[in-house]
Amino acid sequence: RVYDVLVVGSANADLTVRVDRRPGAGETVLGTDLVESAGGKGANQAAAAARIGGRTALLARVGKDAYGDLLLAAQREAGTDVTPVVVDEAARTGTAMIIVGPDGDNSIVVSPGANAALTPQDVAAARQTVAAATVLSLQLEIPTETVRAAAVTAEECGTRVVLNPSPVPERLAPELLAAADPLVVNEHEARRLSGAADGTPRDWAHALRELGARSVVVTLGADGALLLDGAGLHEVPGVTVDAVDTTGAGDAFTGALATRLARGDTLPAAARFAVRVGAAAVTKPGAQPSYPTLADLDALPGS
Ligand code: ATP
Repeated sequence: RVYDVLVVGSANADLTVRVDRRPGAGETVLGTDLVESAGGKGANQAAAAARIGGRTALLARVGKDAYGDLLLAAQREAGTDVTPVVVDEAARTGTAMIIVGPDGDNSIVVSPGANAALTPQDVAAARQTVAAATVLSLQLEIPTETVRAAAVTAEECGTRVVLNPSPVPERLAPELLAAADPLVVNEHEARRLSGAADGTPRDWAHALRELGARSVVVTLGADGALLLDGAGLHEVPGVTVDAVDTTGAGDAFTGALATRLARGDTLPAAARFAVRVGAAAVTKPGAQPSYPTLADLDALPGS
């Protein structure tokens, strides 16, 4: 196959301002200078995969505007094949307006823009690209019917699906859950989708597999990840680093996991690698600008 990973998903310009105090309703506060950087879950996962050398393609929609140019330039710089990206003259590029408070916590408003116009027809037009990829990576920042169409096409083409159900819905369609191998969730998503009021990440992973996921990966922030497949439960410890900004760490993990699975790694081996990529991503600010190359990973503790 020509590609290790095809990502079908969102591309957003991240517009970030830091404030000393969050504004209340009807209030205005002054912030720092605006920082514009490349983000969006789909584009992030593609950039992470390409940066570590995965042969990667992205199917997304951006507007014909400066932010679209910024996102395409970032993908090309990472090494992604952007041939499938649709430049939409009728829509604006998606944006995420991010306010970072004094505590370092983010408040985010996403304006989907062109992401909302990515359709099942776009997936049908890219069928050859789906068939040319070993792994298809999906998230939920584009219309659900488009995600479903991509999962069905992957099944028909014998392409493995990695699904990161984020932003997390109330309920995940059973056919999407059944397509996921693995389902990649953080603790919040694992708890929500398993329907559990309490319990541990192990309990949620078992519940998600009983609900139909072929395999499950729960990311645990600084504590690494745990995985569950037919061979049982496996824990991957975290890598201790100085965390500067965790934005996009989960996407870095998922892009890396998809790449290593495509290259033939077992799920535990791919997750061990992905935990290192996630850890490297938190040592620098931003989403895509923080993603490591293989050489950057050599500088991590435990290399
Ligand atoms: P985000 O929403 O910030 O992108 P997430 O909630 O989807 O992340 P996490 O479980 O927080 O996902 O992090 C994903 C991966 O990133 C972890 O499995 C780990 O490899 C790495 N990671 C995240 N935070 C840290 C940290 N503080 N120290 C080391 N590694 C981290």
